[in-house]
Amino acid sequence: MTAPHHTPDLFALSEINGPVLRPGDRSYADEVTGFNLAALHTPDVVIGATGPDDIVTALRWAKATDTPVAVQATGHGANFPIDHGLLINTSRMTDVRTDPATRTATIAAGAKWSDVLASAAPHGLAGLCGTSTDAGVIGYTLGGGLPVLGRAYGYAADLVRSFQVVTPDGHLRETDPQHEPELFWALRGGKGNVGVVTSLVTELLPSPASTAAASTARANTRRLCSEPGRTGRAPSRTRCAARSRSSACRPSRRSRNPCAAASGPASRSPGPATRPRAKH
Ligand SMILES: Cc1cc2nc3c(=O)[nH]c(=O)nc-3n(C[C@H](O)[C@H](O)[C@H](O)COP(=O)(O)OP(=O)(O)OC[C@H]3O[C@@H](n4cnc5c(N)ncnc54)[C@H](O)[C@@H]3O)c2cc1C
Repeated sequence: MTAPHHTPDLFALSEINGPVLRPGDRSYADEVTGFNLAALHTPDVVIGATGPDDIVTALRWAKATDTPVAVQATGHGANFPIDHGLLINTSRMTDVRTDPATRTATIAAGAKWSDVLASAAPHGLAGLCGTSTDAGVIGYTLGGGLPVLGRAYGYAADLVRSFQVVTPDGHLRETDPQHEPELFWALRGGKGNVGVVTSLVTELLPSPASTAAASTARANTRRLCSEPGRTGRAPSRTRCAARSRSSACRPSRRSRNPCAAASGPASRSPGPATRPRAKH
């Protein structure tokens, strides 16, 4: 196990409701390990956030101690593992609330697409997920979010109505097109560089288009998560991406374009497809 670069004063972090762990602590390994076993974070301290308050406390502490911060929900996008600083694990924050009246979902920082689909499907709704339902909604959306139905509906970030985010100064902010619009713009494609998102509100789409895409993503996820590399050795990201792409884009019997086949009439109706794209 990597030795810590320094011994941080963790007193202020005792307000955090979730675990606060350092290398050598029991559960430290579980707390830092995500999906991509080839890119393992080894921070000086990891916290398991249970809500926005924990993230506010963590970022205020990081600012006061000049400690670099990274975030992990699932570890699907852990391209640059950290070897010092603070890691905020959001995987406990999985709450999803679907509002069928407004056709929106409020999605917490650690929720995966599978959590959103489980909440939205009973209302005949689904979100613009990508090729895997195991990916985190926030990390995916902060990168723009290129959905299976991207040709019909554009980027998932275009459907976001608002974010709740803790900026590096430790302030919890609500941002939407009317409130702090530049922050809102930066979050829709700016990845994790401007703060730690605690939740977002996104529009949902009606079936059957979105549920067809969700079925594809679910099938991909089953295939991906059952492959030997997941538990035996670290999966090659290249292989995973190729695997997902090949199954997502395989032509259906009805059409050579599965996205067009899946979108059906909904893709021709006015709605998200007619929205102006976000500036990326
Ligand atoms: C099998 C597979 C299929 C995929 N398919 C698609 C696809 O179809 N379309 C597509 O667009 N992408 C796809 N991706 C890419 C995926 O969207 C990114 O890897 C995304 O970053 C995953 O986010 P995560 O939260 O699951 O991962 P994590 O590794 O937990 O997080 C990745 C990064 O996201 C940022 N982040 C996460 N949570 C927060 C937060 N709360 N606040 C601030 N920053 C945060 C951080 O920078 C973090 O380092 C796929 C990835 C995999 C592994």
